[in-house]
Amino acid sequence: MASTTATEPKLLSFTGARRIVEEYAAELSPTEPEMLSLLDAVGLVLAEDLRAERDFPPFPRSTRDGYAVRATDVAAAPARLRLIGEVRAGASVEESGLNIGKGEAAEIMTGAPVPSGADAVVMVEYADQIESWVTVRRAVKAGENIVAAGSEARQRSLMVGRGTRVTHTTVAVAAAIGRSEIAAYRRPRVAILATGDELVDINLLPGPNQIRNSNSYSLAAQVYAAGGDPQILPVARDSADELALLLRKGFEADLLLITGGVSAGKYDLVEQVLASFEAQFVFTGARIQPGKPVVFGSVSIREKTTPFFGLPGNPVSTMVTFQLFARPLIDVLSGAKPQPLPFATAALKSPFTTKTGLTRFLPATLGGTYEQPEVKLVRWQGSGDLMAVSRSNCYIVVPPDREQFSAGESVAVLLF
Ligand code: AMP
Ligand code: MG
Repeated sequence: MASTTATEPKLLSFTGARRIVEEYAAELSPTEPEMLSLLDAVGLVLAEDLRAERDFPPFPRSTRDGYAVRATDVAAAPARLRLIGEVRAGASVEESGLNIGKGEAAEIMTGAPVPSGADAVVMVEYADQIESWVTVRRAVKAGENIVAAGSEARQRSLMVGRGTRVTHTTVAVAAAIGRSEIAAYRRPRVAILATGDELVDINLLPGPNQIRNSNSYSLAAQVYAAGGDPQILPVARDSADELALLLRKGFEADLLLITGGVSAGKYDLVEQVLASFEAQFVFTGARIQPGKPVVFGSVSIREKTTPFFGLPGNPVSTMVTFQLFARPLIDVLSGAKPQPLPFATAALKSPFTTKTGLTRFLPATLGGTYEQPEVKLVRWQGSGDLMAVSRSNCYIVVPPDREQFSAGESVAVLLF
């Protein structure tokens, strides 16, 4: 992979930077699998194939409350049929020996096995029952309102594949095949290093010119939600020695996220100190706003290569650059493919103007209805404005060649 030293800045477009991150991620290996209870595996990635241990459904299942019939008997509906029994969900049709003959029907419930002889279910809404006779008012096709045995999954067939992120749907499948534990890849360790002389930890009282270190915690939340194991390191002062010490600690993880200290200021030492570890820089900036100074590369110490990101310290820049660039690495380290970014489109509520040259991610609120999704910019003071982003649920994505936006036009949004 092309790389550069800190002295040769490499500024990429948003799509260029994203592509190169995905290519880099594709070469990484996942962590090792472990057995976890279903709920502990949610958000992690499946490390085994889940296969059907029997046919799904295991019996021809009625999807309606109604009457199990022979379709030919009701082809010329209305038709009067003799009721010979009832099948409830959970009933054993073999034991009851129920068999629907010509001119016969059985009452049946949703989820119950269709008795032999019957090949369709008439919905209760289309039938009138008087004692042991039922008049069917509508014809049904053979197979109607029945899910055939094995039609959802054949015994031993693949239900959910290795590499799938475990959600409630995966949990449902695992539960349906009787698995209370499943193999999932261990959460990759993601070290988080905040830098800055002005920062104090959240348990301490900040002085009048200090601020609390919120980035380590917002990043930890994003890492955890992405399936990583966040490991917050102590804050590094803007001193090369202290930074080097803590970076060395961070390189022990599967991925290192540094926040702050990557801009052009006199005390922005991160790149310089990374270079002293002979870091390979993949890029040292992206034409985006917020987050332009974002840095991506890796450091090899003895046998171990650790990828790192230097994320700009402004809180919104940190959040955006994590989502755009760091997330694909966590996906692959945790056993999945890089998940595509969750883009959508919506109608813009109010016009706005911006400048060309950068791909912008502007905090916004997505609302409206499913027929007419609407998005509205949140007023903000720039990329340090935590309150604005906390009132948002997405970013409006502004392509680098666009300046004027009018109300009602369709715009791209990136969901959180
Ligand atoms: P930097 O990227 O170090 O130039 O920082 C840019 C801005 O983000 C400055 O206003 C910093 O005070 C702020 N900042 C940097 N790191 C953090 C952090 N960990 N938590 C909250 N704000 C931060
Ligand atoms: Mg700083």
